[in-house]
Amino acid sequence: ESVVNRIAAGEVIQRPVSAVKELVENSLDADSTSINVVVKDGGLKLIQVSDDGHGIRCEDLPILCERHTTSKLSKYEDLQSIKSMGFRGEALASMTYVGHVAVTTITKGQLHGYRVCYKDGAMVNEPKACAAVKGTQIMVENLFYNMIARRKTLQNSSDDYTKIVDLLSRMAIHHINVSFSCRKHGAARADVHSIATSLRLDSIRTVYGVSVARNLMKLEASENDSSSLVFKMDGFISNSNYVAKKTTMVLFINDRLVDCAALKRAIEIVYAATLPKASKPFIYMSIVLPPEHVDVNVHPTKREVSLLNQELIVEKIQSAIELKLRESND
Ligand code: ADP
Ligand code: MG
Repeated sequence: ESVVNRIAAGEVIQRPVSAVKELVENSLDADSTSINVVVKDGGLKLIQVSDDGHGIRCEDLPILCERHTTSKLSKYEDLQSIKSMGFRGEALASMTYVGHVAVTTITKGQLHGYRVCYKDGAMVNEPKACAAVKGTQIMVENLFYNMIARRKTLQNSSDDYTKIVDLLSRMAIHHINVSFSCRKHGAARADVHSIATSLRLDSIRTVYGVSVARNLMKLEASENDSSSLVFKMDGFISNSNYVAKKTTMVLFINDRLVDCAALKRAIEIVYAATLPKASKPFIYMSIVLPPEHVDVNVHPTKREVSLLNQELIVEKIQSAIELKLRESND
């Protein structure tokens, strides 16, 4: 049974960056305003995510890392959106099958927190009282220690930390009311360091730099079909002064970080036709759709999505961008 669990867990947590994504999403779900990530050895030695959210009650700790334990099901009433979120209540459980997990947490109004370690879906020890200020800290150590082949492939690639930094940069410019940091263990300098703000452009400036932020333009588009929403989009796109070697496309659909190759290509085509010298744009885009319009058949751990009405949405966005680029070029 343990081998089956491990294999299933390895599907949910495919790389260190997948663990970081799940942990950070949990911190966001816990209404955190500050999320700090520390990574050692590309996440294979250590991933530590600390937040200032509402914490986990002591009585919930024994089953925290059991599969399908979630405190969130009431939020996703209809089956459709349960499926589209994928793997509900499996993330933490999965991490305990492929790594060593330690949780320190305190809930509001408590004098002390608790610390407990997990392995293979269960607590290793009873929760121990400990000092804690606010929120939750989750440490995942020795990820894939029991999956030798996986560990080998990941050890040989140096880009996992880069992937984590990229992920947190993207999360930071979407969740602008939360401050994020990400650093290597022992490093004085953080590689992502966002400050909570109410202005998206400020966040983009902090995370991606002045040279990106000063060349961005606001973009909005939406479409309704006999009073029901087809889609609504807002974001920032780069102007003719932004010149880069490759496109950066930060895309959130219904607040989930995703990739949509078709949309990316469509946008690149508009840029190539309108601003050939600046044909590799920077795009931040947040799209809101009725949840049942996001394809649920795509594997939840993959970021690629496909959308109902995709052609229509892509076309509308293309023409909004084209209009904006022409206006700004006049
Ligand atoms: P899910 O997020 O799908 O519910 P997870 O396995 O990711 O499942 O997390 C299991 C549960 O652990 C969550 O439902 C939540 O109650 C609790 N939890 C995990 N991380 C945190 C956190 N940082 N702060 C508060 N609660 C948390
Ligand atoms: Mg989760």
